[in-house]
Amino acid sequence: MFYKQFLEITDVLNADFVENFDYWLATLPRNRQKNITASMVAAKFDVKYSLAELILKYAEQQKILEHYYLVKCPECDDTLLIITENAVAEILSAPIYCSECERNEKLTTDDIYISYKVIQQPDITEEQLYQAIEQKIIKNGHITGNFINADSLSNNVETLYKEFYNPSESAYNNLKTLRKKLDLDYGKNTTAKGYSLETLICTLFNEIKGISCTRDIRTETNQFDCTAFCSVKTSKLSIFDYLSPYFIIECKNEPNDKPDNNYCNKLLSIMETNEAQIGIVWGRLDATSTCFTLSREHYLTHKDSSRNQIIVTFCDIDLDNLIDKKINLLKYLEIKISGITLGDKNIISKTFKDTN
Ligand SMILES: [Zn+2]
Repeated sequence: MFYKQFLEITDVLNADFVENFDYWLATLPRNRQKNITASMVAAKFDVKYSLAELILKYAEQQKILEHYYLVKCPECDDTLLIITENAVAEILSAPIYCSECERNEKLTTDDIYISYKVIQQPDITEEQLYQAIEQKIIKNGHITGNFINADSLSNNVETLYKEFYNPSESAYNNLKTLRKKLDLDYGKNTTAKGYSLETLICTLFNEIKGISCTRDIRTETNQFDCTAFCSVKTSKLSIFDYLSPYFIIECKNEPNDKPDNNYCNKLLSIMETNEAQIGIVWGRLDATSTCFTLSREHYLTHKDSSRNQIIVTFCDIDLDNLIDKKINLLKYLEIKISGITLGDKNIISKTFKDTN
């Protein structure tokens, strides 16, 4: 092996494949050490796409490769931009000018491709490398077709989740500080007590790019605890279809009191009079099981109407999952909602049971 790191995985993956990949990577000419995609590796070595993806991710973990995104024009296929982490959400939210087509193009996840480049050269001398190359004959020629749809972000939902929700360490620390404030002694000041939970929840949801969560929305009859506006539309993360145009959160900072049907009914009646598709009851203890039953029944009677009306409940356990275990909030919401639509109220603990 040229890259010693690959020795670790010859038992796990197909040994021939690992050896061939190692050789190929180590002997790639400098000008071809970029634009490496999973589909290209899969085709070159005749392995499954998932296996190619696995070895690329492993090489990235080992700091041999680094991923980046190529943004391509949907019309002319010209590369418009090369971007790194955390820029995807912005790219999807505004059109980009293509100088080839001479107009602004609205991009989707189909136009963004994950590629890798070599950032660590193998630990061998030029001479060893030369000999190795001599022993095998490299099939030369321009590699075309590196980019096929399988490499686009549309097929990497996990990456997309992370692009839209990826709190920094300091953001997590801030959430922890806010969580501690939930249990301060507020005496008779129930407003301050309620406010502490609302602040935490608003801060949490504001970590999602494209979501703007506020405590300031009131109607003639209601003040909503938290209202979150969703400006993102991407058909590839269906969670945003549920979250748009906005969703409403009722908070209940009562450490000894389970939220019951009254909360769900209140939220459902509010949702009857606006466009929210998701209502969240956020308590400290897990809501009574009748909340789940009520939400499920409401879903079943409305599922063929033009929009969803789904209530999901959150509690301290969820806060721990999101803040301490750092589970992605978008994925978490998606699973929560699936719990109602599938009718499985234990779906969260089953889905995330291996998360530490
Ligand atoms: Zn173009």
